[in-house]
Amino acid sequence: MKITGDRPSENTEALHYLNETEAEGKIVLLYENDNAVLLVTDRTPFHPEDYSWKDQPGDKGIIRAGNVEFVIKDTMAWPIPKSGDILPPDQITISRPDDTHVMVIAHVVAAVKIDGNPATFSDINANSLIGQDARFEVDQAYRRELNVAHTTAHLMSFALNKHTALFWKKETRQDSLGNPNLDANAIAQSKIYPNQSKDTYRFGKSLRKSGFMADDFVGNIGVVSEEMNKTVNAWIAQASPVSLEGDSLRYGTKRTWKTVLDSKEVSIPCGGTHVKNLSEIGPVEISLQYDPEEKSLVIVSNVLQKSPQAKLQLG
Ligand SMILES: [Zn+2]
Repeated sequence: MKITGDRPSENTEALHYLNETEAEGKIVLLYENDNAVLLVTDRTPFHPEDYSWKDQPGDKGIIRAGNVEFVIKDTMAWPIPKSGDILPPDQITISRPDDTHVMVIAHVVAAVKIDGNPATFSDINANSLIGQDARFEVDQAYRRELNVAHTTAHLMSFALNKHTALFWKKETRQDSLGNPNLDANAIAQSKIYPNQSKDTYRFGKSLRKSGFMADDFVGNIGVVSEEMNKTVNAWIAQASPVSLEGDSLRYGTKRTWKTVLDSKEVSIPCGGTHVKNLSEIGPVEISLQYDPEEKSLVIVSNVLQKSPQAKLQLG
């Protein structure tokens, strides 16, 4: 294990909160062990996979500093303790970020080039890189495919809540559109892929106890699915702008995703990346599958249009 640079004293400035994909910053820390090389900078447009809710994967791309080029294959949130040993992300045992750790964004280095030629990490003078200016270029095509999938996941959850409202026999917390929030009550896992999101819900005892009539829902799943597809595609056609708001760009501060659906402003807490306007998504197809053994509902939302360019080519 080799650490070059100083322990960061504050969370990385996260420019993905502004939907940036290109920026400049400074290298502050290089970490190397047998399994990985991690590069930490003072600011970055690379979106990291969240530490405790791993929905949107980390960005890929290139970071250049002087004559050195780092090929980045993944980006992750990395809690670094404010004192004591600096451990790699896979050896950190806290369950969620706390105030004894600084939350940095770690770029996972796949390969290194010096003057354009393939090199190994040991060829680099790591000391001389600390404090150097770096230029960031996020893989924009990959990011765009994650943006459309992530925004679609949020629209899907509002549509799920709307079309399952009639299956609640008790009051429960509502989403910002005013519907009972099945999504927040039952979500077990959310995964974002390029042009696709996959959300898994648990319909266990506690959900039933809180008043959700799961059997009635399962008996009507075909109708719910049809209605959700109609609703989400209609919302996309409303072409509302999407914004991401928050008080600070420090990684980990609370951010809120906002848009307008049926003339009503809606919001969800979210630190991911998104389209700037719902119309960028184009048509989507949502499928619901209930597994009675697992008592789980899996919803797959597919973005049919691969990119805005593809739509233009089709005329
Ligand atoms: Zn989100």
